[in-house]
Amino acid sequence: MTISIHGIGVGRGVGIGRAVVIASSRADVGHYFIDAEQVEAEIARVYEARDALVQEIQLLLATMNKDMPGEVAALLEVHMLLLQDDELYSGVRYWIADRLYNAGWALSTQFERLARQFEEMDDPYLRERKADLEQVIERLIKRIQGEESPLAMQAPASSGSECLDAADVPLVLVAHDLTPSDMLQFRQSVFKGFVTDVGGKTSHTAIVARSMGIPAVVGARGASRLVQQDDWIVIDGDAGVMLVNPSPIVLDEYRFRQRQDELDKTRLLRMLNTPSVTLDGQKVELLANIELPQDTQAALAAGAVGVGLFRSEFLFMGRKQHHPDEEEQYRAYCQALEGMQGLPLTIRTIDVGADKPLDDSVPDLAHLNPALGLRAIRWSLAEPAMFLTQLRAILRAAALGRVHVLIPMLAHESEIRQTLQMLDMARQQLDEKGMVYGEVLLGAMIEVPAAALTARMFLEHFDFLSIGTNDLIQYTLAIDRADELVAHLYDPLHPAVLQLLAMTIQAAIDAGKPVSVCGEMAGDTSFTRLLLGLGLRSFSMHPAQILAVKQEIVRADAGKLKDWAQQVLASRDPASLMRS
Ligand code: PEP
Ligand code: MG
Repeated sequence: MTISIHGIGVGRGVGIGRAVVIASSRADVGHYFIDAEQVEAEIARVYEARDALVQEIQLLLATMNKDMPGEVAALLEVHMLLLQDDELYSGVRYWIADRLYNAGWALSTQFERLARQFEEMDDPYLRERKADLEQVIERLIKRIQGEESPLAMQAPASSGSECLDAADVPLVLVAHDLTPSDMLQFRQSVFKGFVTDVGGKTSHTAIVARSMGIPAVVGARGASRLVQQDDWIVIDGDAGVMLVNPSPIVLDEYRFRQRQDELDKTRLLRMLNTPSVTLDGQKVELLANIELPQDTQAALAAGAVGVGLFRSEFLFMGRKQHHPDEEEQYRAYCQALEGMQGLPLTIRTIDVGADKPLDDSVPDLAHLNPALGLRAIRWSLAEPAMFLTQLRAILRAAALGRVHVLIPMLAHESEIRQTLQMLDMARQQLDEKGMVYGEVLLGAMIEVPAAALTARMFLEHFDFLSIGTNDLIQYTLAIDRADELVAHLYDPLHPAVLQLLAMTIQAAIDAGKPVSVCGEMAGDTSFTRLLLGLGLRSFSMHPAQILAVKQEIVRADAGKLKDWAQQVLASRDPASLMRS
């Protein structure tokens, strides 16, 4: 029977594949395909790990102190039984030999399958054995992963697509949640799309999905519980729906849509060399948002004329409290600059906190409301050594090209002053060391209502503004952008949001300084005309969205849109006018 689960579409298009269901705790298990010749060796690794663990337990049992409680021995006996269970290994052999999964992936997949059987058992004692099985599997995986690179979900030695041909099975990932740092690993993986139980439209997990241009649905509550390992899944990223085990007719329909999407993408490529100019001759700057230096390739390929937002925090994620030092950051910024081949690069200083923890070891702050807490520039100012290191690395990179620095989430003039002092201090430190650095343009993100309302004051201190609509909407409407339970209230067209947007754009125009939008609104074609009408001439978005936005721009008459935008702004129901 086909099950459909509704969520929020965050990566457009259709993804079809077999489900790989992962518990979030196992998101860091390597997921890659092996070559057919490696099958026997991979199976052997599992058996070797099993034999070593059996020996370990036998030794423990033999040397166990007589005073130890009987339950300890009983527990070890249970582990021993589970460890030698045939059903575990027949499954693992199947995933490795037929699907070409690597050993860790095969073990975690078989665990998810057996765990369901345990959960369905009537006997509470047997049901609880799931936790024991989990421990046993985790020990096996740890032993196996001890031998391989720690990089999670990494690509195989040969390319993913080659291996996909070998396995011939497209796969989609179904998880309770994926953190932005999981997503970084995911970018290198073999999956064709993903679905998570939690998340909102502009959560960072969703943003990374969009940057990868893959179909994705978040906030599909219950998905990871309802979907079984290896079920056929259709992800409809446009409608925000996932289908589990659809009928062949439905599957064919979606395959047809997939082909149509491909054709549309090819057609859009014709826009690549078309100048980004409206019908009435207004030039519009199209910039790229990137997460890692290597994303500059996609930015150039899509015709971006610069990077409007390099989310530098992604360099810091998943590193277990070990921040990249000045040299490493300097190299990363230089790599991005080189990648842009002389075009400007806007580096946003680190923005962590809220839904972007640096790693899993950060204490759980859920009860403290982290979106309103020590986030972004607040965190940087609270960690001056870290902030100065980043500023020095950016300033040094600026000696090699056009670098703009963008400061996230400012609200107070005192924060602006402190930030400027930190920049001076970073320059002074470089002077003292006799190191070369360059000039930078300095920009502020307008992400909190307080900043939008005082945009004129910001413009006295900064060379340019960049409006982070994702946060501006979150903070204006008091809607957690990552919480699917309130996602229906997250409304870019709320009159209050539009007022703040319009006043920020107008303040910059009056001051004769550049302003862009770098939140997700900039890449959503349904808002392009409105933003043009409000006077915006610079849009920064994921490379995958640039050509579609350009298509809207070349069809628009910015002069005519001006009056209409004012009507939208004055309306109590702007959404109704958007369709006119
Ligand atoms: C924003 O808030 O709109 C933005 C671009 O920054 P981020 O999504 O990284 O918070
Ligand atoms: Mg933001």
